[in-house]
Amino acid sequence: MQKTEKKETLALYKDRNVQILLSKILNGEIGTLEPVYEPKTGYRYPVVEAILGNAPEVEPFLNKLHDAGILEKKLYDKIIFCPKCSSASISVRYCCPFCKSFNIQKSSLIEHMKCGYLDIEENFLEGNKYICPKCHEPLKKIDVDYKKAGIWCICEDCNKSFDIPVPTHFCRSCYTNSTFEEAVIKDVYSYTLTENVKAESFLNWFIVAAIREFLIKEGLTVESPALLKGKSGATHSFDIAAYKGDDPQKMMVVDLATSTEHDVSEQPVIALFAKIFDVSPEKAYLIAIPKLSENGKKMAELYKISAIEAENQEEVIASLKKSLGTD
Ligand SMILES: [Zn+2]
Ligand SMILES: [Zn+2]
Ligand SMILES: [Zn+2]
Repeated sequence: MQKTEKKETLALYKDRNVQILLSKILNGEIGTLEPVYEPKTGYRYPVVEAILGNAPEVEPFLNKLHDAGILEKKLYDKIIFCPKCSSASISVRYCCPFCKSFNIQKSSLIEHMKCGYLDIEENFLEGNKYICPKCHEPLKKIDVDYKKAGIWCICEDCNKSFDIPVPTHFCRSCYTNSTFEEAVIKDVYSYTLTENVKAESFLNWFIVAAIREFLIKEGLTVESPALLKGKSGATHSFDIAAYKGDDPQKMMVVDLATSTEHDVSEQPVIALFAKIFDVSPEKAYLIAIPKLSENGKKMAELYKISAIEAENQEEVIASLKKSLGTD
């Protein structure tokens, strides 16, 4: 399955791991690829790890797919790592700005609107009632005769008061405290398939399935995707390879190229030619959805590649039938 715009994207679609991930997204097994939280290591993508069989390769793999415009990413979370031991098992501590102790007491400030007295909640409490310590009147209704006027903190170690504590990060693995300045903070993303890739892949998916079914019905042995070894010893990947049951010499190969925005360029024709030059099948088809550029047509003719232009799978099958003489 080929995208015509970029060579790297083309190569990615031929990558077995990319194909597995895309097929899981296309068949609905994965909707949005979301990271799963693990206290020690941070976020992981178990589905991708299972495909690659190697956790450290996951991030470069997803980056590559994002750079190629196949996956879209959305910020999911920011994760804090210990600057000393790289553990993600971090707790946030709110500390005294004077002595840095995390042994602080957080209180609400209350203002008695009638007399203007302002103090922490605890000093208004008498039993289960609020009584103003200044004018000794009971407080009745919040936002009517009294209001909350913010937060006030008291340090249990140095007894100083302040309104804004200083956050620090405590590592539960190596017990080191670190500041915001020292923190290693990393963006974590969720991924979805880009809309136009989704449209193209779906189209390719159905068309390849339809061609495969048609060729099997015609009594051919079909491989899809097919990996074929060339004279050079290199292995080449085709969307479909098929041959008459007993004669792999009479091989036909099929590649599909779609473009949702404009005509399919000559790029997939050249790519297919490079492969058939090495593999020497009896016949090669390039299916261009919906149209092949003029340049592409000229090159296909020159390289003896049968180009089929089609809007949908029915048109593809009709043209293939004509070409195979089974009409
Ligand atoms: Zn640590
Ligand atoms: Zn303090
Ligand atoms: Zn009062």
